[in-house]
Amino acid sequence: MAIEKIDHDLCTGCEQCVLSCPMDVIRMDEEINKAVIKYVEDCMYCGFCVDCPEKAITILPGPTQSVTLGWG
Ligand code: SF4
Ligand code: SF4
Repeated sequence: MAIEKIDHDLCTGCEQCVLSCPMDVIRMDEEINKAVIKYVEDCMYCGFCVDCPEKAITILPGPTQSVTLGWG
């Protein structure tokens, strides 16, 4: 999976996707208070962002990588 699109008609600006992306692909656009795809080339297909509560994020099929994160 790779992130394809954020539907700004659905996005409420909750920032959940920004906080969940381990690669800093998604940023908040403060002017419109919506999430935007900033560094798509850094997307590592983890799929965490697709948990958007508004279902605003579309991801493309692609290579699946397992991701191990340390939260400590
Ligand atoms: S998780 Fe969804 S609703 Fe929240 S900022 Fe990201 S795209 Fe918008
Ligand atoms: S798939 Fe993973 S790396 Fe790519 S934008 Fe979503 S959370 Fe970030």
